[in-house]
Formats: sequence, C-alpha cells, structure tokens
Amino acid sequence: MKARELLLERLMDIDRRNGTIRFNDKRMTLISVEALGILRRDLASTLGMERAKGFLMRYGWACGQHDAQSIQTMFSWDSERELYLAGPTLHTLEGTVTVEPWELHVDKDSHTLYFTGEWRNSYEVDEHVRHFGMSDEPVCYTLLGYASGYLSEIFGEPVLVTESKCRGKGDSQCVYVAKSLANCSEQERQMFRYFEAESLATELDLAYRRLHHLNQTLIQSLNLHRRLSELVFEGKNLSIIVQVIQEVMQRSVVLEGRRGQLLLSSWHETSHRFSYTSWKRQDNPVPNRESPVGPHVQCEVDGVCIDAFVILANRTRLGRLVLVGDSPIAEEAYVLVERALNVCAVQMFYEQLLLKDSEQKIGDFLDGILQGSYSEQEIAYRARMLDLNPEDAYRVMAVRVEPEEQQDDVLELIRNRFQDFHFFSKGCHILGLICCTKVQNPPWDLEKLCQSIVLHIRRRLKAVSVSVGCGRMVSSMSDIGNSYEDAKLIADWVLAQGHSTPTCGHAFGIFEGFQTVLMLVKSVGHPDVMRFYESVLGRLVQYDAAHRGELLPTLRTYLEHTGNIRRVASELYVSETGVRYRVGKIQELCGLDLNRGHDRFVVQMALQIHDSLSLAALDPRIGGQGTHHMTLPSLASAQLTEEEAVDERD
Ligand SMILES: [Zn+2]
Repeated sequence: MKARELLLERLMDIDRRNGTIRFNDKRMTLISVEALGILRRDLASTLGMERAKGFLMRYGWACGQHDAQSIQTMFSWDSERELYLAGPTLHTLEGTVTVEPWELHVDKDSHTLYFTGEWRNSYEVDEHVRHFGMSDEPVCYTLLGYASGYLSEIFGEPVLVTESKCRGKGDSQCVYVAKSLANCSEQERQMFRYFEAESLATELDLAYRRLHHLNQTLIQSLNLHRRLSELVFEGKNLSIIVQVIQEVMQRSVVLEGRRGQLLLSSWHETSHRFSYTSWKRQDNPVPNRESPVGPHVQCEVDGVCIDAFVILANRTRLGRLVLVGDSPIAEEAYVLVERALNVCAVQMFYEQLLLKDSEQKIGDFLDGILQGSYSEQEIAYRARMLDLNPEDAYRVMAVRVEPEEQQDDVLELIRNRFQDFHFFSKGCHILGLICCTKVQNPPWDLEKLCQSIVLHIRRRLKAVSVSVGCGRMVSSMSDIGNSYEDAKLIADWVLAQGHSTPTCGHAFGIFEGFQTVLMLVKSVGHPDVMRFYESVLGRLVQYDAAHRGELLPTLRTYLEHTGNIRRVASELYVSETGVRYRVGKIQELCGLDLNRGHDRFVVQMALQIHDSLSLAALDPRIGGQGTHHMTLPSLASAQLTEEEAVDERD
C-alpha cells in the first residue's frame, strides 16, 4: 500500500440506510467548518486566545494521533516512508487542508525526523481571519496539532510541527516544518507545553472554577459595597465602617491617617494587634505599584500576613487601610479591598472637609468676638449655631510652633489627636477653644492636656518644638478676648524662656501660675521683667545650684512667717543661728535688706516670676519647692488609652 493510493471510498464506510459514517470501524461525523470557526471564537472569548490556542492544538493532536493509530492497522504498508506520507494524504482527504509534502528525512538511529511541506486552503486561516482578523503569528493551531500528533505516533518520539509561514499572518501560503524533539532548539521545545495539559477538559474545568470563584467574590463585593454605601448615607462614621470591613473580610482592619498614625482599628484576633505593632516598628518595604488596587505593601510578621493599601482621593494620600490576617489575600478578594478603599476614601475626605469647615467657622466666630463685632445676644446665638454652649466656661489655649513653617502640620496633628476641642490657626499661634466642663471631666485635666500636646508633638515631629499657654477661665463668651490675650502672652513667654536658657525644654504655662508675670509683662514688657528677676534672684539661684543650697526654700519660709526666725527654724529643722546665717547670705546675694517692707515686696515678686519659670521649664535646676510650685506630672502618669498606646509606640 502506498500513500497516494488512499481513497476516501476505501477509508470510509458510509451506511446510507442507518446514516452513519465509519472510519476503521469508528464512527465519524461531518462538521461544518463554520461551526468550528464559531467554536474557536467562543473558546477564545471564554478562555483567552492563549488558552484557546492550547485547547485547539491538543484537539488537533488527538485527531492526528487517532488517525495514525487507525491507518497503521488498516493497511499493510510498502514502507515506513509511505506511512509518514499517509498523514498528509489523510489530512487532505478529510478536507481540512491541502498538503503538499516537500522534504522528508527520517533516521531512527539519530532520533532525527525532518519533514517540510506546504499547506494550501487551510480552513483554519479562513475562520480565524473571519473572526479575529489578521494575526501577528501563525494561526493553524489544529493543523499543527494534527501533524504533531500523527508524526509523534508513527515516529514513536515527540515531534513538533511549526509554521515557518502562515497565510493567517499575511504570508502567501502556509509552510510547515516538522522536527523531532532531538532536533528542536530550546525555544522550540517550549512549544511542547501546549500539549502538556492533562486533558481537554482540564482547561474548561479550571476556567469554570475560576469563573465560579470570581462570581462568588463579585456577589460578596456587591454586598459589601451595598452595606458600606448604606452606612455612608446613614451618616455612620468610620469606626462602624471599619468594623463592617473586618466582618466581611474576616481580617483585622486598621485605618491609618496621613502620617501613618493609627486612627481606628477593629481586631479580628487579639494576636493581630501585636503583629501590627511589631510590623510598624520595622522599616516599611517599597510598595508594589503594579498592584491592581494602587500602591500596596505586603509583609509577613511571625506567620501573620499584613497588607497595607494607600487610601487615595484625587491623588491625595488620605491614609492607609491595613489588613491583618492568617493567610495571604486571595487575588479575587482585591475586588473587596477596592470597594473598602473607595468607601474609606469618600468618608475620610468628607469628615476632613466637615472638620475643616466647622473649625474654620469657630475660628471666625472667635475673631468676631475679639474684634467686638457681636452683641451679647449675637454671641449666644452664634455659639449655639456652632454647637457651643454659651453658658459653659471657656479658656483659650495658644500654641507657638518653632519653626513656624510647621504650624499647619502641628495643627493637623493636634486636631486629629484631640478631637474633643476646637483648634484653628490665627497668625503665628494655633488657638484652641477649651470648654472647661469637658476638661474637668476625665480623661482630661488642663495640665495633662497641655502636657499631652507637648509630648504628642515631640514624638511625632522630632525637629519641632511647641510652647503652650492657657489663658484665664471666662464664664461669659464675650470675655473670651481676655483669655486669648493671656494665652498668647504665656505661650510667647514660655517660648522666649526656652531661648534664653537653651537647656530648658519648651513646655507650657497656665494662667493661674502666671498672673504676676502677666501683669508685669503687660505693664513693662518681657525683657525688663527678666532683667528684674535676674538682678534680684539671679545670684541666689546660681548659688543654690552650685552648693546644693537651701537658700531659696529658706527665703520662701522666711517670707511666709514674716521674718519670725524661731518659726522658720522649727519648720526647717535648722537652728536659729543657722537661719540667721542663711538670711544674711540671702541679703548679701540679693543685695537687699529683708527688714525693709519695700525690699520684701521686691523679693516676693521675683519669687513669683521664678515659680512661673519653673512651671514653664523642664529644667530641674530651677525647680523650687514652694507651695505655689506646680510639679509636672511624670510621663508614666499620662493616661493613654490602649489605642493611643499603640499609636504612641510607633
Ligand atoms: Zn497557516
């Protein structure tokens, strides 16, 4: 038997009565080429062209392999060569393509097979171009598959067929080249991957499962979006939104502000909190900007997966959404992340807008009062409009920032951290309106509030220092101007104090400890007050510091007991001679005579200035032990809530 003797009539058994066609006793059907074209189109749109290509190549392989098995057993062949050539003849007889073999070279010993030829009238080119237009690469996928499958079966080793030319990519004809695996280049061997899938069904099965999963996630993400949108429209705040994200994603959720500070958290598991905290201590890795949901930092800490996504609104960074979970986030869940990011962005943007707006209004209102633009009645009305109770007692707090350019940054930090109070900028001060009823209730007392502000800014902005002044308490809003003047003066005084003694940390001052200083500063100005203080008590304070002396407490006790040496001696557990010696030393250092009423008054006043300075400074050198002295609460006593503790640690 020779290849060219193959005839369709001899191959096919057409049973007209039963309407069946058989080839080697196996049933076949006639399928229209157009139907194959539609199948090709649908496969490509469902699986993507790359996967459809693999599918079609494996389909061709199966046909070719099957034909090879049949034809081998059906006839007795003159030579092996005829068997190889029977493939192209069969391919042609089946109406798929007209094959014209050119060159065939087979050498089993060297594992070599080389077979070239021309394909004319490829049905596949016509259908491909009809549905997809011209291609950049050869398109006769089932033909390649068929020839590869047929030749591999006969040769007994893998054979790869490629097209060196294809009409589907604009060539005048299709030219095929078949090579055994041993003769393939590394690049050509890569092509075998298309034949490697376990079965034709696998690709569809995988695609189906992927689609099913995607569908589930889509339903879930729609639900999340609906729930979150409802919350936004109901005017619910971010803390509830964060909670819902946690429930739906089954992960711990942390919302961070613009500077990476923790704003809100909802922990799915308590251990996540520790992972988050230790992650925050590490250096942040470079974000992956290729991520489908914007810049994305991915980390693993002690087996816990942490994903941080940037919350953006109109290219402005509002903060980050950090998800903490026990396993990596599946690719499908990015849809959920995207919804969550969108809703957080909208809500954060909206809340910031509201906050800025209302703080600005309160700032304008205070401005109006200071300038005397409102009557009493108007003040009360406007206060109520701004949700301030005009019956409450208020104080003004002033914050001076150094360097001044950082004032806006400090304002933002203070606003975010101390949301119970109203802060805004006015000139070179940040002003705060402090409602005294709020301050008297836990968790704030005035001193702690001032201290928290100073410490908070020191931790956040290392190169910035702030000084805080608190004005007098006023029971009527119309008097708020007095408190404002106090606050500004104290803040400036404290700041200047930091300059004149560089070792002192800037800190804060409260009106009650500053009355004398304020009075003097208002009447004579700040440098004069300092000169006066230095001239009266300067040498005495230096002496005490150098000799661990007790002169200052002695002076204080002496003045309290109006010069009664015996009572001073008994209170200080010192002999009367000792007291007399100390008083002599004090008079010598101050250049004063304490028996004179005028001199006692002068030293009394200098002492008051001294106490104001000790309050303002954190320098222990100036620490007096007088009854008027207010000790600064230690760091440990600052009561931070749990969230703040996490916040402060990073
Ligand atoms: Zn082709």
